[in-house]
Amino acid sequence: MRDPRDHHDPGPAMPERRSVLKAGVALAAAPLLAGVAARADAAPKPVDVGGPFSTRAFGSASASGPLGPLQVKRRALGPHDVLLDVLYCGICHSDIHQARDEWSALPTAFPCVPGHEVIGRVQAVGGAVTKFKAGDIGGVGCMVDSCGTCESCLADREQNCVNGATFTYNSPDRATGEHTFGGYSERMVVSERFVIRIPPGADLAATAPLLCAGITTFSPMQHWKLGPRQRVGVIGLGGLGHIAVKLAAARKAEVTVFTTSPGKVADARRLGAQEAVLWSDTDAMKRLANRFDLLISTVPETYPMQPFMDLLKLDATLVNVGALNQLQGLNGMALAFGRKSLAGSVIGGIAETQEVVDYCAARNIKADIELIRPDDVNRAFERVVNKDVRYRFVIDVASGKPRSATERG
Ligand SMILES: [Zn+2]
Ligand SMILES: [Zn+2]
Repeated sequence: MRDPRDHHDPGPAMPERRSVLKAGVALAAAPLLAGVAARADAAPKPVDVGGPFSTRAFGSASASGPLGPLQVKRRALGPHDVLLDVLYCGICHSDIHQARDEWSALPTAFPCVPGHEVIGRVQAVGGAVTKFKAGDIGGVGCMVDSCGTCESCLADREQNCVNGATFTYNSPDRATGEHTFGGYSERMVVSERFVIRIPPGADLAATAPLLCAGITTFSPMQHWKLGPRQRVGVIGLGGLGHIAVKLAAARKAEVTVFTTSPGKVADARRLGAQEAVLWSDTDAMKRLANRFDLLISTVPETYPMQPFMDLLKLDATLVNVGALNQLQGLNGMALAFGRKSLAGSVIGGIAETQEVVDYCAARNIKADIELIRPDDVNRAFERVVNKDVRYRFVIDVASGKPRSATERG
């Protein structure tokens, strides 16, 4: 029998798993969910959530320092809160920018614990929580709170909250007044409103990147209504770009990838692109002028944008989701004569984040990941900066926990 609380879950139905999950955390000791290591399913030590508590995390104490283990404080579990034991956390390029204090408009408060592609198991819920019960799997993306009353929040666009959304890390916490700590940590307390339901059967580690990279590229495709046979260009083939290609291909759009890495051309096709073009290929850039309905720029640094604006059709839009600093190299006359638009977009609302997670679960779309241990995070940061990742690092957070006597055998 289906659990009535699951009626709104459009993910692939797996009744035998649902009925087991209803039994709650007590039965979760068996490795029932695909993608969860048995170790992560081991019965958790109880935590007193009646007051603030300390949890192990990986973070940086200064802009120049490496990340290392540290303890951070989590707030007491409130009536609307969910306590998550973090299983997996993706490494987003934003994590690196923030940990290294590279955004002048968004200075970093130290210690900084990054991580906003978080998958965890619910260990406890507050008395008023209706969306989750112990044993469920929840996801946390880039936001953990917002005002809830402004025009944007009421329209399910918490990311555009006019009073400022509370981001998952390095953001003033509305509940405690301190700054938030992200998912490179063993436990998190998050309002249920900001926790995404992860459909049963999902590959948990490869689903984590959907919570930032997925929603960040899905949202502009929704807003600008990317449809079948439309021509879309994805600029940059990294964590965001590779998911953008998969999402655009799922919509049956014609996808062209623009990359600076000759080694990624074959990958672009494997991921679903019709064509991959090197930025340095001036002949191809000329041939593709005025042909695109939509361009999505996922490059996390600025670069001269006019050569790409020239690829847009009349009235078409280039959406920048990657570079969050001063943009460069735009020609006003070229934009005006083609009535072309340059737009920005940041993640998506919570409802839309749930939508992309469900959409991907139903179509078996997931990130291409490399799973690492928490103590590999500094090496992973270097490899991301050097574009040496295919295509997302995901931290197996549970693998960093000191093992109990029984687990050591
Ligand atoms: Zn991100
Ligand atoms: Zn708001």
